[in-house]
Amino acid sequence: MNIILLGPPGSGKGTQAKRLEARFGLLQISTGEILREAVTADTTLGKKIKSTMDAGELISDKLVLEVIKNRLDEPDCETGVVFDGFPRTVAQAKALDDIKRAQGETVDVVIMLDVDDDALITRIEKRATSAGENEVRSDDTVEVLKHRLQAYRTWTAPIIPFYADRGILKRVDGMKGIKQVSSAVYKIVDSIRLVESD
Ligand code: AMP
Repeated sequence: MNIILLGPPGSGKGTQAKRLEARFGLLQISTGEILREAVTADTTLGKKIKSTMDAGELISDKLVLEVIKNRLDEPDCETGVVFDGFPRTVAQAKALDDIKRAQGETVDVVIMLDVDDDALITRIEKRATSAGENEVRSDDTVEVLKHRLQAYRTWTAPIIPFYADRGILKRVDGMKGIKQVSSAVYKIVDSIRLVESD
């Protein structure tokens, strides 16, 4: 099963992806996490992308696709994947179709977490001030969030009609509490699993 979680930065994709992983035994693939690890490890890739990530801009499709292709070659992906933060452009979405087609698979469902902008700013402010409990991301500031939101609107939002036209886009109210959002997300995944096992 291949699930995409779509939504603006701070909409709860990471939280919901981890909960889906625990509940359904799927594997969360977060391109943001993979890229942050490369920056921390100061690899060749990490050096190339650090300033772009810190500015809240998108990494080039070419680099992200290299990363995702390598990751999808790993055997742990066979149980099914929840994509978190990928695809982020229509070109990435098309490339994912090609990769999955070559594996005899398809994207089963795209779950869109709807959240309004004011709530996003509040969430990011909270995340940025919770130092001590969790490590604060260098791109979790209100200033950078504005760039990330802009990148989302320009590059990622066009993915919504791309998947809606195929009839695989489901929307969830991301303004609700974590558990309520999860229960709506689980219902969607359960219905897909029923169809798949028919
Ligand atoms: P995230 O953890 O998903 O919010 O991603 C953090 C940052 O990593 C983004 O602001 C981008 O700079 C970069 N990034 C993550 N995923 C992608 C992607 N699919 N395409 C381009 N850049 C990405």
